Amino acid sequence: MTDATIQHYINGQISPGTGSQTQDVFNPATGQVTGQVALANGDDVNAAVAAADAAFPAWADTPPIRRARVMFKFLELLNTHKDDLARAITAEHGKVFTDAQGEVARGIDIVEFACGIPQLLKGDYTEQVSTGIDNWTTRQPLGVVAGVTPFNFPVMVPMWMFPVAIAAGNTFVLKPSPLDPSASLMIADLLKQAGLPDGVFNVVQGDKDAVNALIEHPDVQALSFVGSTPIANLLYEKGAKHGKRIQALGGAKNHMVVMPDADLDKAVDALIGAAYGSAGERCMAISVAVLVGDVADKIMPRLAERARTLQVKNGEQLDAEMGPIVTAAAHQRITGYIDKGVAEGAELLVDGREFDASTTGEGCAEGFWMGGSLFDHVTPDMTIYKEEIFGPVLACVRVPDIATAIRLINDHEFGNGVSCFTESGTVAREFGRRIQVGMVGINVPIPVPMAWHGFGGWKRSMFGDTHAYGEEGVKFYTRQKSIMQRWSDSIDAGAEFVMPTAK
Ligand code: NAD
Repeated sequence: MTDATIQHYINGQISPGTGSQTQDVFNPATGQVTGQVALANGDDVNAAVAAADAAFPAWADTPPIRRARVMFKFLELLNTHKDDLARAITAEHGKVFTDAQGEVARGIDIVEFACGIPQLLKGDYTEQVSTGIDNWTTRQPLGVVAGVTPFNFPVMVPMWMFPVAIAAGNTFVLKPSPLDPSASLMIADLLKQAGLPDGVFNVVQGDKDAVNALIEHPDVQALSFVGSTPIANLLYEKGAKHGKRIQALGGAKNHMVVMPDADLDKAVDALIGAAYGSAGERCMAISVAVLVGDVADKIMPRLAERARTLQVKNGEQLDAEMGPIVTAAAHQRITGYIDKGVAEGAELLVDGREFDASTTGEGCAEGFWMGGSLFDHVTPDMTIYKEEIFGPVLACVRVPDIATAIRLINDHEFGNGVSCFTESGTVAREFGRRIQVGMVGINVPIPVPMAWHGFGGWKRSMFGDTHAYGEEGVKFYTRQKSIMQRWSDSIDAGAEFVMPTAK
C-alpha cells in the first residue's frame, strides 16, 4: 500500500487499515489504472464499527435541530464542491460530466430533506387516553447502521442512506463500490468540515469480505444495500439470520410502453436518453421498449438513426452523450448478451460492438468503449429480455394492445421502474393502478422519486419493507417507542388484575 492508495476513513481520520490487499482503480475512458483502493479485512471493519459505536451515545443525544445544523452546513459545502464530486465520478465511473452533475444534484436533494429532521422525528401525542393518562410515540435511532453501495451512483446512492440515518441520530459505516471509491472520502471530508463529530460517519473500502464482516457484526443494527439482485437477496437472508434490519435494493429490467396515441417525438427522445444515458448503467434505465400496435413501424427507423449517431466520448467532453462502460469485465458481459440476442433470433438493428473508438478523445484508445445497441423483435423467452444487461442495449418488444403490455411487465421477475407514454388519461390511470412495479412514470421515462417520496422497486428489485429515503427512510433508521404516562393522583384504584381499559 502506498500513500496514494485510496484508504478507509475511521473515527474522523484517513486510515490505511491493517490489511495489505488492494485493487486497481481505472479510468474507464482511457482504460488506465489511476490508483489502488485498499480492501478492508475483518479488523478494519471492527475498527470502523467500534468508532461508530463509541460515537453513537453522544450523537443520539444531540438535539435534532443541532444535528440538522450540521446537515445545513454539509449542504452548503456540497453546493460549493459539487463539481469536484462530479469530476471524481466521471474519472472513475466514466459517465459524462453533465450526468455526474445531475447525480450529485439528486444526492443533494436528500441532504436538503434530511435538514428537516426535527419535523420528521416529531411524534404523535394523545392527551387523556384514560383519565389522567397521556400516550405518545417517539422515534429513536437504532445505533450503528451500515450502507453497501453499487458502482453506478458513487455519490447519489450513499446519499440515499447516510444523510437520513445520521440526521436521525445513528452513526454510519459506508462500504462503497471498489470501482469508484474516491467520492466517499471527499464526502467524509466535507462532513468533517461541516462539524460532524468523529466516528459518526466512517468509510471502509473493500468488497465481499468487508460486507460479510459488517452483516455479521453484532454491533451493526441495520444495513442498507443497493446493488444486484443476487447479492441483495443473499444479504437480506443473511441479515435476517443475524437479526438485522435490512433494506436491499436489487436489479431491474425497466419497460417503457409507447401507445399509438403517444407524442412519438417525445417518446423517441425519452427512449434514447433513458436507454443510453450513463451507458445504460442505471437501475432506472429503460432497457425494454414495449411498442403497442403500429408504433414499432413508425419509430424503429428513428430509434436506429439516433442510436447510430450517439455522441459516445470521454465524459469530460461537454458534448458527450454517453461515456465508456465501467470495466473491461462489464464490457465483455454486455458483448456476450448482444451475441446471445443475435443467436436467439432477435433482430440487431444497431450493433454497439462495432463502435469505432477513435472518435472518443485523446488518450482513449484503450478505454472500455462500445456504442449503443438496438434490438427489434425481442420476445419474452429470450435471455436479453429476461436478464438485466446493465449496458447500452435497448430491446424492443412488439405487442398488440395495452392489456398485453401490462401482462408482459407484470410477469417479469423485476419491478423497479416503468413508464407509459400516452395521451389518454384513461390508459394512464389504468396503467398506474394495474402495473406491478414500484416506481411508475406517465410520459416520464425515468421516474426516480423526489427526496421526500422514497425510492424502491417491487418483486425481485427490492427485499425488505421500507423504501430508501423519504419518510420510509426515516422509519427504516428509527424505531418507534410508545410511552404512556400518568402523573395525576385522581385515580387510585389500587392493584388492578384486569386488562386496563379507558376509564
Ligand atoms: P453489485 O451487486 O456487484 O455490488 C454492489 C455492492 O455489493 C458493492 O459494494 C460490492 O462491493 C458488494 N458486493 C459484491 N459482491 C458481493 C458479495 N458476494 N457479497 C457481499 N457484497 C458484495 O452491483 P454493482 O455492479 O456495483 O451495481 C450494479 C447493480 O446495482 C445492478 O444490478 C443495478 O440494477 C443495481 N442497482 C440497483 C439500484 C436500485 O435502486 N434498485 C440502484 C443502483 C444500482
